[in-house]
Amino acid sequence: MRFALILLLALATSGFAVVEQAPSPPAAAVLSPDNAQAFDPAAATQAWLDSVPADQRARSDAYFEGGYWLLLWDFLWAAAIALLLLQTRISARLRDFAERTTDVKAVQAILYGVAFIILVALLGFPLQAYESFFREHQYGMATQNFGQWFGDQLKGLLIAIIAVAIVLPVLYAVFRRTTRTWWIWGTIVVVIFSIFGNIIAPVFVFPLFNKYTPLNDPKVRDPILALARANEIPVDQVFEVDASRQTKRVSANVAGAFGTTRIALNDNLLNQCSLPEIRQVMAHEMGHFVLNHGGKLVTYSGLAILLTFGLTKLIFDRAVARRGERWGIRGVADLAGLPLLWLIITALNFIATPLQNTIIRVTEREADAFGINAAREPDGFAAVSLKLGAYRKLNPGPIEEFIFFDHPSGRARIRMAMDWKKERLP
Ligand SMILES: [Zn+2]
Repeated sequence: MRFALILLLALATSGFAVVEQAPSPPAAAVLSPDNAQAFDPAAATQAWLDSVPADQRARSDAYFEGGYWLLLWDFLWAAAIALLLLQTRISARLRDFAERTTDVKAVQAILYGVAFIILVALLGFPLQAYESFFREHQYGMATQNFGQWFGDQLKGLLIAIIAVAIVLPVLYAVFRRTTRTWWIWGTIVVVIFSIFGNIIAPVFVFPLFNKYTPLNDPKVRDPILALARANEIPVDQVFEVDASRQTKRVSANVAGAFGTTRIALNDNLLNQCSLPEIRQVMAHEMGHFVLNHGGKLVTYSGLAILLTFGLTKLIFDRAVARRGERWGIRGVADLAGLPLLWLIITALNFIATPLQNTIIRVTEREADAFGINAAREPDGFAAVSLKLGAYRKLNPGPIEEFIFFDHPSGRARIRMAMDWKKERLP
């Protein structure tokens, strides 16, 4: 039924122009029968990297390296907000207000939670505006004017308010009943809600920001559907998303869970890339699907949340013993302690950044390996890796890649492509 509908829509119009020109590798990366023995994947990788103009490289390096510092500023800014709410007893007063207003615990949690989210959004606004609006324009990535960007921010805030109003009453009901083992039960609640969020996001959240339409150009659609059928992926899951509404970035993603899983290519990718590049990206996304990365990442993050909550309990109890009276916090079941929980979890997440990045990067590398073997487009892989380099440093040092990269670097990806190419698999 759904497939029939999508076929019907697919027949309707053809929206974008695909670049007909296939990527042409630099001289050192050309593999012919004459140089099969002499082909050097390292030299070929370097030749691809050297094909990017120096000023372009300097710009994308500066953009990405600036992101390293933003990690620190984001953490410090959040910590400052949390400490402000605790130290000025704004948090305690909000809790008092919620308790005076109603005796129903769930409603108290909603009142406190909504006020908390709005306060955090207001106090965090300057850094958020710099990071996701002014800086994006400075580097020529953004396509929205301030009004459009602000509209998206308000939508995001509204979604956060709804999420908090649903999750917080449940979480605090658990905290009240299990003051010693809340970190175990809290993990279960958070994991269940995040699975639920993943299921509904492609249906109810993403369409608020962008338009998702089925891919409708047969020149692109048909090779992709062939790739999908060859890997036993349900064929109704390839969408185009109008990411150019917000950004010039080239990207694709797979989202959803169970019935709502879908793969989406963004329109920047479709407009800027040749078919071999698109097939490689698509095969990478299919890799996430076939290798069940959604399920695996939920499992990994469940374990990470359990560990984080366990450590949070230890630190929270100690902090409340020392400062609880001053901050007006009675215990974990007290809403006034939410900024302290947030502060501790944010700090632990900040420290765990390299670990989180590495878990995701390893998963991305698996999808790359699946992708190159399914699409068999080493030059397309190399060419699109350079395009992704517009916003990700192409050639980082090994420690830098370990700490900061949640995807393999351009160099690592091109090297994978050139190693694959050299072997000339049948
Ligand atoms: Zn990926």
